[in-house]
Amino acid sequence: MEQTDHCADSMNSLTLAEAQARICESVTPISGVERIPIKQARGRILAEKLTAPIDLPPFPNSAMDGYALRHADVAGQTDALLTVIGTSFAGKPYEGLLGPGQCVRIFTGAAIPAGADTVIMQEDVIRDDDQIRLARTVSQHANVRPIGDEVRSGEDLLERGKMLQAADLGLMASAGFSMATVTRRLRVVFFSTGDELRPVEETLTYGQIYDSNRYLLQSLLNCPAIEAFDMGVVPDNATAVKQALLDATLKADAIISSGGVSVGDPDFIAASLAELGQVGFWKVAVKPGKPFAFGSIGPAWFFGLPGNPVAVMVTFRQLVRPALLRMMGANPKPPLRLQAICRLPLKKSPGRIEFQRGKFELDSEGGFSVCGFSGQGAHQLLGMSRANCLIVLPKENAGVKPGERVEIEPLLDEFF
Ligand code: AMP
Ligand code: MG
Repeated sequence: MEQTDHCADSMNSLTLAEAQARICESVTPISGVERIPIKQARGRILAEKLTAPIDLPPFPNSAMDGYALRHADVAGQTDALLTVIGTSFAGKPYEGLLGPGQCVRIFTGAAIPAGADTVIMQEDVIRDDDQIRLARTVSQHANVRPIGDEVRSGEDLLERGKMLQAADLGLMASAGFSMATVTRRLRVVFFSTGDELRPVEETLTYGQIYDSNRYLLQSLLNCPAIEAFDMGVVPDNATAVKQALLDATLKADAIISSGGVSVGDPDFIAASLAELGQVGFWKVAVKPGKPFAFGSIGPAWFFGLPGNPVAVMVTFRQLVRPALLRMMGANPKPPLRLQAICRLPLKKSPGRIEFQRGKFELDSEGGFSVCGFSGQGAHQLLGMSRANCLIVLPKENAGVKPGERVEIEPLLDEFF
């Protein structure tokens, strides 16, 4: 519901950037770490900086299947003849020393034998019994991965605060870490408010709607670093809201509610919050999502999201997600933004930054183009479901004509 001027005066009016800054300055990382096997650490937040305990690779090895040789024996020659004196397999090195005119059959990942400094690909030699003839010249150190080439023992491997992904865990394994020290899971309680809301298992009567916000919040919070608790739908009455908040503070680091923060909503939500904690009601200059509440209730941070589902998604992404990441001990980065040429006109009035739902694609010139959807209402999830990006229109923008450049935020399938 839109604010009346009278009510707007009684609320904090903030730009999106101001609201983001206030929230991020307020919340602090939770304490408590766990040591868990790396097999279970995907999506968890690394609680310590890791340096490499060994060189990677730990020994010089071959990047190719071929022959390890002494470059001095073949420098500049295409016809050089060498004698094959043994084989170096991955995991089963050749243990002797290469003398002049000698080479060793070698496979990818196998240790370079002592004396050798170069590997020639098997495709570049002609083998005849225990002799090879080089079919082309080879440069010194070709196809050799030197010891410590990727990282030296003692050098930085992973930053503290990194949300561990597949590559990070593979990297940790390659350096010999079997366990990871990670921040404990962030406990997030969420609920919907509204007498009109029914869970999807029930039947609607006239005037009721299904509660979509809890299902989308459940999904937005589906991250290994979070333990989410669904507290259901809380009816529009003071006792119920107060009880829900009190129950939530028993286990929550963060509480997220949806609905009930518009000025038109019954005063009891504001009253219950004022009684239990320090919560401010904000009018954030963002569309969708203008009404927003933020503050603390007991030990938990409270985020009061608007009721309309698209507003929930936009405010979650712009205001809640960075705060939760910070609480988890992660280093939140602003979402990736790209530029795209707008193919269809976009309607907008100046005054608020706006996130419209759009679909972007690579165009024939190698840049991106984007189209907005027709249903841009804050209650219309259909466009959000079909979108692959948000079109970011700055506060002062007064509409976009076809061919104009806009910023987009791709909705990547990143987790959390
Ligand atoms: P409110 O902020 O409570 O005034 O809600 C604004 C609009 O969002 C109203 O049309 C509500 O019916 C709708 N709404 C509130 N909560 C939900 C929800 N959980 N799921 C779907 N729509 C909701
Ligand atoms: Mg409501």
